[in-house]
Amino acid sequence: MLSPAAAQQKNLLLETYGQINEHLVTQMSIGNPVGEIFELGTDASNFQIKTFLKGRLFKQKGELALALEKVKMGTYGICEDCGKKISGERLEVLPATKYCASCQKKLEDG
Ligand SMILES: [Zn+2]
Repeated sequence: MLSPAAAQQKNLLLETYGQINEHLVTQMSIGNPVGEIFELGTDASNFQIKTFLKGRLFKQKGELALALEKVKMGTYGICEDCGKKISGERLEVLPATKYCASCQKKLEDG
């Protein structure tokens, strides 16, 4: 049995997972990437944008699947680098994150 906290984490992850799936279906069937076009600049063709978004969504799905595994193992919400607990606010925004804020920053800074 999962603890109530773990069950809640699992629900949040599953919800995010469902949203990503919906996005994927939308991207593939209608082919109307919304929002984040601007990140890519105006020259990017629709095909490039779709490929980019699809790739990212698949990646997010993989990360969420891993996070769900961790909930089962009881290691969800623990930073893979320093082993400390990741803050609740951070997990709310980035449910599939593997690192705490300071380790993430360290990694991004190189
Ligand atoms: Zn850390």
